[in-house]
This record gives sequence, structure tokens and C-alpha cells, in this order.
Amino acid sequence: MSKRLVLIGHPVAHSLSAAMQQAALDAAGIDARYELLDVPLPELADVIEGLRGDEFLGANVTIPHKERVVPMVDRLTDDAQSTGAVNTITREGRRLVGHNTDVPAFKVALDELVGRQKMPRTAVVLGAGGGARAVVHGLITAGFLRVIVFNRHLHRAEGLVRFFGKGAAHMELKAMPWHESIIEVELSKAKVLVNASSVGLGSDESPIPGELLPPELMVMDLVYRPRVTRLLADAEAANAAATMNGELMLLHQGAAAFELWTGQTAPLELMRAQLDAALAADAAGQDTDAAVPAAAGDPA
Ligand code: NDP
Repeated sequence: MSKRLVLIGHPVAHSLSAAMQQAALDAAGIDARYELLDVPLPELADVIEGLRGDEFLGANVTIPHKERVVPMVDRLTDDAQSTGAVNTITREGRRLVGHNTDVPAFKVALDELVGRQKMPRTAVVLGAGGGARAVVHGLITAGFLRVIVFNRHLHRAEGLVRFFGKGAAHMELKAMPWHESIIEVELSKAKVLVNASSVGLGSDESPIPGELLPPELMVMDLVYRPRVTRLLADAEAANAAATMNGELMLLHQGAAAFELWTGQTAPLELMRAQLDAALAADAAGQDTDAAVPAAAGDPA
């Protein structure tokens, strides 16, 4: 019987995971289908429960469910535990294990963004959802000493900061209200900016006006569709030191998930090529995938 893997999110049509995961499964000779499953919140618990069935190899979890899935699985790995977010689920018999492959993937992306320079110590993070948790965790473990988190709903950023509590006691990890004047001041003190909000996903919007961006900033946008987001275009125009979209992180979180589900080494170059082709087709407007949705708006 063909096995199933599902990407659980709401919306999911923007995702390019199916393109790279299906190619990797086929190349490895694994009889499994990777499907996109649009799951609104009221159905989430039932869908997660259903993953216990033998036909499932596992799942990916994406916006806006990464945190909500945490209490629905039976065991968390260290990375899932230390972020309070799950993006990959595997099965141990009927038990579900929650992993967070965004964590190692963000580290790969951050190292690439910084390149040969000394790892910076100061960052601004926009967004406080599941993706932001992997980002903040990654910045803390990379030795950042000042990380300011802005979120549209301040209480969520405050919750994130509280969550990291003791692990960030040696540094300044702060939540601040989303006011452009405050963001501008903090950006002027920071070396790295990470957009972990979903603003810009499938749209030409930026979470912040380009005028707020100082020169010489290293800017990472977790959004990868479109490839050059408005934020990244504005950062380039402001003479950013480096810019990167979410493609590399997407590739590496996917490769790590593939290895967890299959026990096989991920065909990284094949997955990279699939992703590249899907993004190029998207940019050329030739996508056969479902239409890119408008920015997720309030996912709650
Ligand atoms: P969540 O749904 O958990 O969080 C969404 C975040 O976006 C929240 O901080 C939310 O703020 C914010 N947001 C949404 N709409 C707006 C808006 N109109 N104005 C300001 N803020 C807004 O999603 P994730 O954290 O899982 O994902 C966030 C983004 O990061 C997505 O675009 C996702 O695709 C991307 N991502 C990419 C990865 C990669 O591998 N490249 C990995 C992980 C994430 P609020 O709390 O106030 O609603």
C-alpha cells in the first residue's frame, strides 16, 4: 500500500514542499505520496489524531499550526521542546513524535547569510509565530546578545520572550510593540533583521517601510514566494550587507524531515533543483500549482 505524507497548514497552497519531497521520495524508490492538506483550526486535532494510522509515514506542519500541534503529539524532540513548535511529525507505532527541523535549517541559512564575517550579536525579528521561535532559538544558540522581537499582537511576542526565559537570561531578549518609530530605532542598533512574519507571502507587501532600513544590515526573509520579496528588494536598495530569502531554510528543513521519515540520506541536490525549478516557474508565472494566496493576514 502506498504510504502518505501530508503538509498540514492553513493555507497550504503557497507551499513548494510537495515539489521537492515527492521528487526525493520517487528518487529513493519509496512508495509514498506527499499531499497538501488545508486544515482549519477546528479540524486540527482530528487530523493529527488520524496520523496514527499505518498508512502515514508522517507529516509536516506549517502556518499557523506549529505551536498548536505541540500538545497533540506524544513526545517532543529537543529542538521541538526548546522552541515550543513542531514542523515535522514522525510515528513510533501509534505514538506521534514532534520534531522541529526549522531549527537546524535556520542555522544553515544564518551561517550562509553571515558568510565569512564574524557572527553578529544584535538582531531584530519581525513576527512571533512558529517560525520566529526557531529563529530566536537559533540566534540565542549562535551567541547573539541582543534580540528584539516585534509582533503585530504584542502579547504573542511577550509570550515568546517568556518561553525562552532562562535560556536567554545571559542576554537581552525583548518584545516591543510594533511601532515604526521603535522598529527604526532598533534597526539602527542591529546587524541582522529576520522577517518571520508571513507578510509578503504571495504579495508585494513588506512588513515595514523601506525607509526604516539602515545600510549594511544583513536581512533574511523567511518568505520564499515570491523569491525577491518587497522587503528584500527594499533592503538591496538600502545597501544591505547581505540578503536572503527563505529558500535555503525551506530546503534544509525539508531534507531533515525527509531523513526523519525515511531513515535515508536526503537527495539534497535533487531537492534543491526541484525547488529552484518550482520557484523559477512561479516567477515566470507558469506555475501549475494552485494560485498563491494573499498574505495570510491574521491566522488566529
Ligand atoms: P504563524 O502563523 O505561526 O505566524 C505568523 C506570523 O506572521 C505572526 O507573527 C503574525 O502576527 C504575523 N503576521 C501575519 N499577518 C500579519 C500582518 N498582516 N501584519 C503583521 N504581522 C502579521 O506562521 P509561521 O511562524 O509558521 O510562519 C511565518 C512565515 O515564515 C510564513 O510566511 C512562513 O511561510 C515562513 N516560514 C518559512 C520557513 C522556511 O523554511 N523558509 C520556515 C518557517 C516559516 P500575529 O501573531 O500578530 O498574528
